[in-house]
Amino acid sequence: MIGLTYIRNLYNESLDDIGKILGVSKQSVHQWEMGLRPIPDERLKQLGEIFNLKEQYFNKELTNNDKIYILEQEIIRLKFIKMHDISGKSFNNFKVLKYVKKDTKGRTFWKCLCNCCGNMVIIRSDNLKNGNSTKCIKCGKIGRTWKCK
Ligand SMILES: [Zn+2]
Repeated sequence: MIGLTYIRNLYNESLDDIGKILGVSKQSVHQWEMGLRPIPDERLKQLGEIFNLKEQYFNKELTNNDKIYILEQEIIRLKFIKMHDISGKSFNNFKVLKYVKKDTKGRTFWKCLCNCCGNMVIIRSDNLKNGNSTKCIKCGKIGRTWKCK
């Protein structure tokens, strides 16, 4: 089992969720996990940012020391999420599903469901709260803003 599978299961993300977050198909994620295709460098970088872990962990077989380190990071992450949790709340047309990541400035990003089109989008918490112009990808394609009605 490569690190991606271990980390994905630990964080309770499905193949589909990871695919949606990275913008690839769930089949691609499955092929990476089965070792049928290498994880592209660009995706490794994204994974590192999303899970706040070094890129090397995702495409290697993990040692017990690696797993301990990853579990420790998960404890820190869960404590952080608990402090900032907005999951279950609604802002305009978006319902917040779950925490995704924070950036270097400590701003949090959340996976949200667009009530208009059912698409899942990642939105920064301050943009959710102040109603800034973050677009739903799917609604954006048909020329609507995220306040589409
Ligand atoms: Zn939408």
